[in-house]
Amino acid sequence: MKHSELSFRDSVEFMFNRAAKFIDLPTGLKEKIRVTNSTYTVRFGVRMRGGIKTFTGYRSVHSEHMEPVKGGIRYAPSVNQNEVEALAALMTFKCALVEIPFGGSKGGLCINPADYSEDELEIITRRFAYELAKRDLINPSQNVPAPDMGTGEREMAWMADQYGRMNTTDINARACVTGKPLGGGGIEGRIEATGRGVQYALEEFFRYPKDVAAANLSGGLEGKTVIVQGLGNVGYHAALFLSEECGAKITGIIEVDGALSNDNGLDVNEIHQHIANNGGIKGYKGGTYIENGMKLLEGECDILLPAAIEGAISTENASRIKAPLIIEAANGPITAAANDILRDRGIIIIPDLYANAGGVTVSYFEWVKNLSHIRFGRMQRREEEGRNQLLIEELNHLFKNANIPVEFSTKFLRRFSRGAGELELVRSGLDDTMRLGYQAMREVWRSRPEVGDLRTAGFLVAIRRVANSYQAKGM
Ligand code: GLU
Repeated sequence: MKHSELSFRDSVEFMFNRAAKFIDLPTGLKEKIRVTNSTYTVRFGVRMRGGIKTFTGYRSVHSEHMEPVKGGIRYAPSVNQNEVEALAALMTFKCALVEIPFGGSKGGLCINPADYSEDELEIITRRFAYELAKRDLINPSQNVPAPDMGTGEREMAWMADQYGRMNTTDINARACVTGKPLGGGGIEGRIEATGRGVQYALEEFFRYPKDVAAANLSGGLEGKTVIVQGLGNVGYHAALFLSEECGAKITGIIEVDGALSNDNGLDVNEIHQHIANNGGIKGYKGGTYIENGMKLLEGECDILLPAAIEGAISTENASRIKAPLIIEAANGPITAAANDILRDRGIIIIPDLYANAGGVTVSYFEWVKNLSHIRFGRMQRREEEGRNQLLIEELNHLFKNANIPVEFSTKFLRRFSRGAGELELVRSGLDDTMRLGYQAMREVWRSRPEVGDLRTAGFLVAIRRVANSYQAKGM
């Protein structure tokens, strides 16, 4: 089907409609699942710099089939209602696809954080949080924000504290937002979570030779070349883990001020540090600098990993993309029209609603941790170590009695005897979630050729699950 460029929200709706066609549901229910339930717009004034400055913020709730509803809060000058609603819808389907028991929501504040001092940002954030909390749009049992573009642990800590001040007797107050710093009720592994999820998603994809072949690739992740767009929290961690742990080679990095390429591989950590010190990638010596960075999206590589903004791949450049496999680490980096161009060209896309679900998955673990008021692993870690120790002692004893001259290596002993702490458990839960999410999606993709691609398959699984939950409530 041919269609011209749609807005971000219409793009998501288009993808929804395409998948919904394959499910037999009452038309009314499809409509109910598709629409955004509500979007709250707030304009508030903050006294600063000798005057009053007005800010505009949003919190959109897409679906409340499960509560709380969940999704990040974005700080960017480009934030608008259409974008926030598209992102909230994506949260609904993302959570459903990876079986996170939340509805979908998203928030945003029209602000360029770089224009304000830390003290000013704190006042603005607290005021925004106050406006949202007052209307239960921040609430441990109803709506739980998290970081997104332009926000992080610091903003989440301010919001949690603001909610706590407004709800002094709420024992679960800390569960009102996720992505908090560890000392403020956060969880190990949340910062790296989305990037880690991208790694697990690719590892799972490469476990299926048939899927790999569909992308005209072969073998595993080892030695694969990757071009990454955006070295923010998600892109940085994904690139780091892929290069350090999976043997992939990062041959291109695209940032706002240009791009770097090096066929022998770029040093992700060094470049990350260079950006922190210099405000951009320009001047970095370990690669060729390309002023028109977006051009590198069209570079030769095995895997293209857009981890920046929505709409990076559009009708403008889709026909020139060379990567046979694209993993959408960002939300909505490929427009609906570009999606079809790529699909017709046989390019495989691992879609956003699955690929970047690692963040909300670990957010879910954080929320559970906050509600249970105990760190994961606290009860069982030493018990597990004791049992492993016992097994090793018994085996050593048996070997000795049977005169078998064997010894465990110290590396094995160290790894085997250690009980799982919070970070190990978080990673294990995340890996499991990403594997199962992919399997659910690929099962539909493989068994129903008319579905056509992984994105439609992912939406199909998600819509079916949301529908089941509505139907279970008698709707
Ligand atoms: N902002 C992230 C996303 O788009 C995380 C959301 C969350 O943890 O609630 O998925």
